[in-house]
Amino acid sequence: MPHSGMLPPGSWLGCLGGGQLGRMFVHAAQAMGYQVLVLDPDANGPAAQAANDVIVAQYDDMNAIDALAARVAAVTTEFENVPAASLERLAAKIPTRPGASAVRVAQDRRKEKRFFSANGLPVGEFAVIESANDLDAAADSLFPGILKTATLGYDGKGQKRVASRAEALSAFNSFSHTPCVLEALVPFAMEVSVLVARDATGETCVWPVQENEHVNGILDLTIVPARIATDMSARAQTLAKQLVTALDYVGVLCVEIFVTKSGALLLNEIAPRPHNSGHYTIEACVTSQFEQQARVLAGAPLGDTSLVQPAVMVNVLGDVWFDPATSMQPAWNEILAMSGVHLHLYGKAEPRRARKMGHVTCVAATLDDALGSAREVKRVLRIT
Ligand code: AMP
Repeated sequence: MPHSGMLPPGSWLGCLGGGQLGRMFVHAAQAMGYQVLVLDPDANGPAAQAANDVIVAQYDDMNAIDALAARVAAVTTEFENVPAASLERLAAKIPTRPGASAVRVAQDRRKEKRFFSANGLPVGEFAVIESANDLDAAADSLFPGILKTATLGYDGKGQKRVASRAEALSAFNSFSHTPCVLEALVPFAMEVSVLVARDATGETCVWPVQENEHVNGILDLTIVPARIATDMSARAQTLAKQLVTALDYVGVLCVEIFVTKSGALLLNEIAPRPHNSGHYTIEACVTSQFEQQARVLAGAPLGDTSLVQPAVMVNVLGDVWFDPATSMQPAWNEILAMSGVHLHLYGKAEPRRARKMGHVTCVAATLDDALGSAREVKRVLRIT
């Protein structure tokens, strides 16, 4: 169903999913005067705490999905594993951004990689592995590689590095022969990501390229602007725009890209939603990724994505609560005393190791200064 003009502030917007991305979407939508109804199984999750109202239900509960559709003017999602059937049911009744077909591609690494190849987007060597025979037939050049389950993997979960065919077979066995993708290990010089938004009229906009550092498969640091040549940034941004257009995507999306040592760009994966590496946009860009998500959903014009000042974001995982030296409560006062430092905590009651509990964004007049603040934040929070 097409939008007929912008939804008036005061309207209800829906959000399928209740994590931190939903929470920050709620904050941005409410700042523009919208009311947000969250559907999530957890009545007290990060987004539910901030929302105007909550439907507590599973994402595949079609009665709850119908109740959501009846109460909101448009709906978005904050994670890619929402059942596509639920999005389809919503889309039959109200504008649903992004739509089920785009989310389906992002939910399955097989579809994602084939989509990249079919649309001429650069991707590293890969093979779809659905049986031990597929592994036997895989090219030698895929080793050393990474075996990843086709669905439900995130933050390095559901993937194993494999040096040889024999190791790949034992990894495939350990994944109970669930369909996988085998990727050749990319000798990357840097990992970057690009946030891109596309509205219902097909207009696109990109944010500056983000440089990402991971620890144990989880994002640790995002540095903006990425320390790569301007023409390489422009290439990455062009790829992101081509991708959302080919996907006929409506909403905010993040593309993760490897910059190889020889200067090539290879697409890794896409997230059909705002992304952890885009949290810095709240303080550092004219329009944040969450405000843009609300604008697209409401049928409003896209906002300016320019960078106002360099930024470095530090992820805060539950591990910092377990350091004996912090006496179970990190030294927030020390980091809040620093200039240009912004603390975001997601309201999660229970800190667990490797659980994303919050993030800290450091902004400064120069990237070197922002990096210096981020180093100090990590020292104070004892993030190694
Ligand atoms: P993913 O869940 O696919 O984003 O993978 C998590 C992290 O594993 C990435 O951010 C990379 O650091 C690393 N990784 C994933 N795939 C590859 C690859 N083909 N080659 C090298 N490193 C990879």
